[in-house]
Parts: sequence; structure tokens; C-alpha cells
Amino acid sequence: MTFAAALAAELRASGPMPLARAMQLANAHYYATAHALGPGGDFVTAPEVSQMFGELIGAWATDLWVRAGQPADAALVELGPGRGTLMADLLRVAALAGWHPPVHLVETSPSLRRQQAARVPGATFHDRIDTLPGDGPLIVIANEFLDALPITQFVAAGAGWTVRHVVAGPAGLAFQDVEPVKLAFVPESIRDAEDGSIYERNFAAEQVVAALARRLSAQGGAALVIDYGHEGPALGDTLQAIHKGVFADPLAVLGDGDLTAHVDFAACRAAARRAAPVLVLGPVNQGAFLMALGLRQRADRLKAAASLDLRAALESQVARLAGAAAMGRLFKVMALVGSGWPWPAGFPTVEG
Ligand code: SAH
Repeated sequence: MTFAAALAAELRASGPMPLARAMQLANAHYYATAHALGPGGDFVTAPEVSQMFGELIGAWATDLWVRAGQPADAALVELGPGRGTLMADLLRVAALAGWHPPVHLVETSPSLRRQQAARVPGATFHDRIDTLPGDGPLIVIANEFLDALPITQFVAAGAGWTVRHVVAGPAGLAFQDVEPVKLAFVPESIRDAEDGSIYERNFAAEQVVAALARRLSAQGGAALVIDYGHEGPALGDTLQAIHKGVFADPLAVLGDGDLTAHVDFAACRAAARRAAPVLVLGPVNQGAFLMALGLRQRADRLKAAASLDLRAALESQVARLAGAAAMGRLFKVMALVGSGWPWPAGFPTVEG
């Protein structure tokens, strides 16, 4: 039985389930089936496009650690490390500077944990960020992690707003908007939107960012959050599913496709600032960020020793990571910086 069919059977008995809960269950199921990422998988993330991505993030992290005075107790953390590719590429660069930090990976999927352990020997695994070390600075990387966390969709209905739920309909899973909600959840600027308008909130992502802010402010360090998204508050349904490399109806492929939503960077920034006195930088476009870190120079360096085919491949990787029509503009980079830590590379020198 597919995940969607099993959920439909359950909902027939138990009634509507909030979209956020359904998305959480579906993605937990999905990521536990090892073929999501990488060559032949459903989708290709930046570290899987090119080794240069993880290398530049490695240069970013190592530079920060060096300028912070090379604290011996600093640890590296990655949230949702996928196949472990980014961390493996990052650690090669760190090692060039003589930095061999302990690595902590926050990952819930058992099959992805196995792949990560193979690429990053010696890493310590965590189900949640709560169990990360509580002493010493943390340098945290999260690429395409927040977009996979469950969103709540508020839907305008008459004078109020409702919450989107998933129900079992005659033809399978369907959406149903129930329960009037407290208007305080919906920002005043969009409260009068026309019926059917959708306002999304990713409470899980906001909680993660707030928890990181508290950690960095107490322990020192910095976090780099990279994802696709926008600066809200905005109206619109951004829930999307990718199944076997193509966009699909989220409910039709629930649990068998990758379910994500745009990250609202403004909401995340506000959550961080509410939580602790951290510096919040960006978001800046991924293309500009990678170019500032030396993507062009790194590609030229690799090309100098490469075959003709490989040179063309490296050029197309640069275009995919940084080109405005590919990932360069849609994907954005935000940093949180703890007390007393240096200004990280790749961000303009004023706070966003
Ligand atoms: N960062 C990787 C993978 C992105 S896919 C890359 O860029 O290639 C999302 C990752 O987050 C997967 O590793 C998935 O298993 C993990 N993940 C999703 N939800 C999670 C949760 N609630 N807790 C921990 N890990 C989660």
C-alpha cells in the first residue's frame, strides 16, 4: 500500500489532519526511502551539482573559524545533510587549514544516516538540535533543510481565516479548510485578502532558527542557512512536490515525492531576533554569495587541470549554482552570528 493510501485509510477513521502534520509524516516516510537525492534521485541539490559548492562553504566556515582565533572547542554542525556530500567537501577544505573539528549531523532518516556515516566517518548523529553540544561554539550549515519542514496554510474565508487540512475524499486525499483561526496569526497587511487566498507559516522552521539563535548567542559561532524562498509576508500557495524529477500534485504523490515550500526569510529573521541578540545577515542571492566566496576562481583553478569535457561540465556547474535563471537568484543565503564572532564572508557589511 502506498503512503497516501495508508493515510487515506487512517483519515477515513480519524477525520481531517492539519496539513503540517500530514507533511511531517509524508516527508519522514519519503526521506526514509534512500533514493530521494543525488544521481538518479528525485531532485538535485547544490552540493550534488558540484563539489565546488561544499568547498566554498568549507572556505566560508574555515575563514570564520580562523578569524575567530581558531577556537579548539568549536564544532561543525549540519542540519539535514542529505547524502553527506556537502560535509565531505567542506571537511577537505577545513583540513587544508589544519582544522579537524568534531562533526554533528542532525538527521532523522535512517537510510540517509547510513550514507552520511560513509562519507563523514566519525560524525555524531542527532534526531533534533536540542541534543547538540551545549558548550563551545557551533558552526552550523543548513542547505535545503528548512524548505522540507512542515508548513501551515491559512486560507481566507469570509470575514475570517481557516486552516488547511487533509481529508480522505471519495477519490483519495483532498484538502479541506476547517477551524476558524485567531486573526493574530495572519499579519494585518494581508488580513483582508480575498477568499481562497493562502498565507503560509513554517512554525517548525521558525523554531529551528530561534533555537539556533539562542545557541549561538550563548555558545558563540555562526549559522549559514541556504534555501529557496522569499521575503514575506506574502500570499500564495508554494507547497510543491517533485516526484521522479518532475513537479507533481502534492496529494497524489504524498510520501513518495519530495514535499517542500518556499522559506519566508523575513519570518525566520524575526524569529531569530525575538529569540536572542544575534546578528542576522542577508538573505543574499546564492549566486552573489558564491561569486563573493570565489566560485569563478575555484572553477578556473579546476579547469586548468581538466580535460575538455570536464571544463565544459565545470562551466555548466557554475551556471547552475550561480546563474540567475537556475539556482543563483531563487536560492538565498542568510547568516546568524553569535556574540563576539567576526563578520562572515560573503555578506555586505550592514545588517539586513
Ligand atoms: N542538505 C542536503 C539534503 C537536503 S534534503 C543537500 O543539500 O543535498 C533535506 C534533508 O533534511 C534530508 O537529509 C532529510 O532527511 C532531512 N530532514 C528533513 N526533515 C527533517 C527533520 N525534521 N529532522 C531532521 N532531518 C530532517
